[in-house]
Amino acid sequence: AMPTSFNVDTASAGDDICSICYDALSTKRIICLHPCQHRFHRTCIMSWFESRQQFIRRQFTCCLCRTYASRHKDERGQHVPPMLALEVKENERDFADRRLRFEGLVRFWTSINRILESLREDKHRAVLLDKCSEYVEDIDDEMEKLRTRAELTEKIFVSHSLRSNQRINALNENMRTWMETVDQGGRTMDQLMLLEKNLDRASSELRKEKDAATTSALIRFRELCEAEI
Ligand SMILES: [Zn+2]
Ligand SMILES: [Zn+2]
Repeated sequence: AMPTSFNVDTASAGDDICSICYDALSTKRIICLHPCQHRFHRTCIMSWFESRQQFIRRQFTCCLCRTYASRHKDERGQHVPPMLALEVKENERDFADRRLRFEGLVRFWTSINRILESLREDKHRAVLLDKCSEYVEDIDDEMEKLRTRAELTEKIFVSHSLRSNQRINALNENMRTWMETVDQGGRTMDQLMLLEKNLDRASSELRKEKDAATTSALIRFRELCEAEI
């Protein structure tokens, strides 16, 4: 059945089809663009909005009529904000460079989790309404996509924390020195064995320190996110 919250008056012939994938609109969740009122599958129009050319300029335009879409409403009339596609390597790099400030990462993570919360409700409703498996899988796919983005946000936070950790930087320097020393050559077998033992010790110390710093960075990130919620 067609959702009732859309303006049916603007519906024209062929309006039951998603103009991006040419599949019936009823097979997946729908987004209605404002002001043009064109409708698409939510996941189809979101991947267009989240493409680099659209997202970087923040000028979300309708695929059909090129009208600037000021709001994108789901079937419950809620605005669905496009989220930066962090899984695209170029975007991840941009994000890491530009928005290293922790607040940016925290805000991104909390927005993602807010959307995930409403997707859990969508899925619950879809199951109650006995929607087809394609419809439910579409929700699962979007949740998976957003979970990946949330994980990448954490990863960027952790790698930034490790880079600015003085103890880890000192241990890295120590490792480099041992490696150079081993490479210099002209050593007796005994000297070489001793050097390699030192190199092993330095590398295991560095690994332990990194593991500990990673754990505490993740805990800190979660604390910051919880404070934001
Ligand atoms: Zn579609
Ligand atoms: Zn349009």
